[in-house]
Amino acid sequence: MGPKLGIVKDPAYLTHKTGLSHPESPERLAAVYGMLDREFSSQLFFFDPSPATLEQIELAHSPAHVQLVLATARRAFTNLASDTTASANSCHAAWLAAGGCLRGLEAVLSGQCPICFALVRPPGHHALGGQAGGFCIFNNLAVTAAWARAALGLKRVLIVDWDVHHGNGIQDIFYRDPGVFYFSTHYFQAYPHTGDWEDVGMGRGAGYTMNVCLPYDASDADVLSLYREVLPQVVEGYEPELILVAAGFDAHKEDPLGSTQLSEEAFAGLGALVRRLGPERGVPLMLALEGGYNPEALAASVRQTLLGLLGLGQGEEILARARSERGIALVRKARQVHGIYGVWMGGMM
Ligand SMILES: [Zn+2]
Repeated sequence: MGPKLGIVKDPAYLTHKTGLSHPESPERLAAVYGMLDREFSSQLFFFDPSPATLEQIELAHSPAHVQLVLATARRAFTNLASDTTASANSCHAAWLAAGGCLRGLEAVLSGQCPICFALVRPPGHHALGGQAGGFCIFNNLAVTAAWARAALGLKRVLIVDWDVHHGNGIQDIFYRDPGVFYFSTHYFQAYPHTGDWEDVGMGRGAGYTMNVCLPYDASDADVLSLYREVLPQVVEGYEPELILVAAGFDAHKEDPLGSTQLSEEAFAGLGALVRRLGPERGVPLMLALEGGYNPEALAASVRQTLLGLLGLGQGEEILARARSERGIALVRKARQVHGIYGVWMGGMM
């Protein structure tokens, strides 16, 4: 049997320095890479990334933003936004983070492996077309989705974002575009304060953005019961040709920036669910690391996700047994807001 799960990793991602005490530190990814070496090396297949091209980056970003990022390469330290900094190597890491996701895309679309997880930094989902922010420089998954559509001819790409923060950059870039369905669960009162229930897309994109606002103390059962009921309906209605996951792990209860109360086992359930909805139905699946700011909790959560993706561990049972009144209320609200749109009516486009 061939490799089941691809991983994109590169030591250059650790050379993006953000300054002392910045939560988006190289130690995050170092903890994840150490965990891979200890626990998984025989089950995984590793891919080396190469930097994205200018053509690829400019599918999601303005030339002015690209020039600002390129200029950071000559300086020891640059503020790209109030919370987003660049060191001399950050420019290279940012091009390589988008390129790592594109490498993962190539791996899953070419059939080298049905699932790939790009373990990259800087993260991407807060980066707007013309502005860095939220620790993000380029929007790695927006570049990936845009490339899959523009160059590879895919018509429908689903992006699932389980980071505790709303991916305002992904939403903004595809807000009028029915070719990318953006599904996000997040704690609305946290940064960046976007992604309200009623934000559903505009124009031809109406109904193709789905925001689920979680309670601040959302539990495993709340989140898993919501995902188990809602995400299969999105996949059946939208029929994506590719599923991308903005895989942040700051919903973990030990995360210093998150507010919600997930355990690492919740991510085994989410991993099992996206495996079932993606590769088990013949749909390629590519995940990219977003947030997660307690290095140990992050590594434990990525480990559980990989177990779920590999069909090992307890993911299926954890998912199946999740029961929650609040989860049911979230499902009801999602159907109430989105019931008029094509995905929920059966058949679209
Ligand atoms: Zn986050």
